[in-house]
Amino acid sequence: MDKIVALCKRRGFIFQSSEIYGGLNGAWDYGPLGVELKRNLKDYWWRSMTQVRDDIVGFDGSILMNRAVWKASGHEATFSDPLIDCKTCKGRFRADQIDSSTCGLKPSKSPRECGGELTEPKTFNLMFKTYVGAIEDESAITYLRPETAQAMFVQFKNVVDVTQKKLPFGIAQIGKAFRNEINPRNFTFRSREFEQMEVEFFVKPGTGPEWLEKWLEERLSWYEAIGIPRAKIHVLTVPEKDRAFYSQGTYDLEYEFPFGIQELEGIAHRGNYDLKQHQEHSGKPLEYFDEESKTKYLAEVVEPSAGVDRTVLALLCEAYAEETVKDEESGKEETRVVLHFVPRIAPIKAAVFPLLKNKPELVAIARDIYKKLQPLMKVAYADSAAIGRRYRRMDEVGTPYGVTVDFETLEGTKAASVSATGAPIELGQKDTVTLRHRDSMKQERIAIADLPAYLLAKIS
Ligand code: ATP
Repeated sequence: MDKIVALCKRRGFIFQSSEIYGGLNGAWDYGPLGVELKRNLKDYWWRSMTQVRDDIVGFDGSILMNRAVWKASGHEATFSDPLIDCKTCKGRFRADQIDSSTCGLKPSKSPRECGGELTEPKTFNLMFKTYVGAIEDESAITYLRPETAQAMFVQFKNVVDVTQKKLPFGIAQIGKAFRNEINPRNFTFRSREFEQMEVEFFVKPGTGPEWLEKWLEERLSWYEAIGIPRAKIHVLTVPEKDRAFYSQGTYDLEYEFPFGIQELEGIAHRGNYDLKQHQEHSGKPLEYFDEESKTKYLAEVVEPSAGVDRTVLALLCEAYAEETVKDEESGKEETRVVLHFVPRIAPIKAAVFPLLKNKPELVAIARDIYKKLQPLMKVAYADSAAIGRRYRRMDEVGTPYGVTVDFETLEGTKAASVSATGAPIELGQKDTVTLRHRDSMKQERIAIADLPAYLLAKIS
């Protein structure tokens, strides 16, 4: 884990929030490469859930909502964790995680083993409270949403009316959520500000259990498509005593992180709890009119709820490898750090290199290829350092393809006549470059004219 955290900082994936002021516990910033990785992940989820399916529509709700939403949903009364204080080291711990926590004074021991004086557990609401408007009184209280789901429940009727969707159908949303976690830890795994990707899938009464199974399969194959193999995901059937009170069945999809097997996503059959609560509290009907049976009823809901940040972390953990390889230039053995991201997720899809930066004809062609690829995908251009070194730097951030303009590119082509003044290059159909594959480190020649289509097919 330490190596991954260090790589994230060194190469600009993830930084500590407010770092120059000593940081803020539980908050993280995504740097230039991290934001690309995260965006690719969210785009792929969005595409899988909304674009290629007829039965799910997209949605983007506000973070601040009427406080009544949180009363109706039960969050105000029950969205809490049991908190234990240590009077000796002043540490604060979640009662259900105390055995895996460490004492502030004796880090090798847990708070129960260290002999410190512990308080009885008390409930601690995880929602961040805030005030809407200028006056900070009781009537102005609301919360930063602790999950994205509620907006999709309270807008259920509007979405049905405008889309005319028939059950079963879903609403999908990606957005920020906030929880004042007692003990943020394990890098971004448990944060106080994070993003969720949630689907509320509304189904006919009685069909919840079968949809729960379908969603389990759907989500497992989705993780496979982003490079997290099924074998690395543990499916936990959450026992009744550990489920949220409204849940009629929950699967947790857990990943083998270096710090233990931990939850990536929860898939819950929530029954009609949410719609029922909001219907009762708002006094507005949220029933669905079934044209086939000419009856009205409350839909049941199956909810796959995934964490963006946890999935990004799982992708980094899964992709990270240290390998002994031969340097491609000198032939000497060395260790390379490589991120084996699948191309659709990789932050940079290809890097373009002129073999030598002081050869204007190589540089001109490399710049031209780079500029032509740029509108199609995220590409990088690198001209300093030896070529082997440049490959290594791209391996370390998971760039799947390297494109090198070398002397063979120039052989017998119109490109050979390129002037140092930057006159437009007319490349012939047969001009080729070296295409280097990150994982196998194999190199082959490819016609420059074929490059965009080749790369687009690989990343799509
Ligand atoms: P945990 O038991 O780990 O606290 P949870 O069961 O409370 O998680 P859910 O309420 O089911 O989590 O939220 C759905 C998803 O949102 C989780 O599977 C996780 O990926 C993400 N998530 C929840 N809390 C956090 C957090 N503090 N930091 C990062 N991601 C989170």
